Amino acid sequence: MTVETNGPQETFQLGERLGKEAAPGSVFCLYGDLGVGKTVFSQGFAHGLGIEGPVNSPTFTILQQYEDGRLPLYHFDVYRIGDVEEMEEIGYEDCFYGDGVCLIEWPERIRELLPEHAVSIRIEKDLERGFDYRRITIKEEA
Ligand code: ADP
Ligand code: MG
Repeated sequence: MTVETNGPQETFQLGERLGKEAAPGSVFCLYGDLGVGKTVFSQGFAHGLGIEGPVNSPTFTILQQYEDGRLPLYHFDVYRIGDVEEMEEIGYEDCFYGDGVCLIEWPERIRELLPEHAVSIRIEKDLERGFDYRRITIKEEA
């Protein structure tokens, strides 16, 4: 499925819709360059799950966990990960194979750990369509 958005609010709303529908145990991989809108999408997603607090890119912590929504949300940003062992120290398996929902920014950095049931969400710019245009492609595979 491909969705086109023309501003951060629309990407937020798409995330919100998926957050409302998300089933326990789902894992979403968010692909796309820096500044493309992965965190905007995540903020909408969290809102859709009923999470009230602010959701920021967890770049300096790798994992940010939210317990106040309909399902637990595990928000990973693995941009700065050095070694997959860091993922083990965090206890990623309990997140990927548990009853919460995972969002993973920069999933390509931990490719070998991604579960088979992961859904990929790729966000791309196309400057010919304007600065605020994004093409968002959703696929049932990591
Ligand atoms: P990432 O997490 O991918 O590095 P962010 O979500 O932090 O990126 O930032 C995306 C930036 O792009 C924000 O400043 C946002 O306002 C802007 N933006 C412009 N158009 C869009 C759009 N259609 N969807 C999402 N973000 C957009
Ligand atoms: Mg981000």
